Amino acid sequence: MALDQLYQEILLDHYKQPRNKGVLDDANVRLELKNPFCGDEILLTLRVADGFVEDVAFAGSGCVISQASASVMTEKIKGMRVAQVREMAEQFSELVKTGHAEAVSAQEDDDLEAFRGVCEFPTRVKCAMLAWRTLLQGLEHHEHAHPHPVASNPSGAQK
Ligand code: ZN
Repeated sequence: MALDQLYQEILLDHYKQPRNKGVLDDANVRLELKNPFCGDEILLTLRVADGFVEDVAFAGSGCVISQASASVMTEKIKGMRVAQVREMAEQFSELVKTGHAEAVSAQEDDDLEAFRGVCEFPTRVKCAMLAWRTLLQGLEHHEHAHPHPVASNPSGAQK
């Protein structure tokens, strides 16, 4: 199977059988964003505790790229440290905008690599990034609402 074809299959699989689809009852982060250029909608709910994403779910509708991206994202970030989540969001953004991101290649992760081809369609970058943008904004709101010192981040010192 050609690589492009494999990537297509991965996207379609996530689109048809989305992972973590739904709305968390006990979420402490909840945000909905839309991509007016394509009509994509993502409602993201997360439960964040002790600097970790304990649970995550997404609801919404839209094109294959936007929904597959949300599905892959929720799978990756569940159980992940918030700091790591931010790094991954940056790597993913680099991947879909430029077509290469060393950190992603190093992981040899087909689910992420599947979005590499999006870079050839600049209007679709917004589709691929919608879930990640929702995630980053949601986390930011959460931190403003619940500021707390982070031990591993000396610059975030706070009394
Ligand atoms: Zn779209």
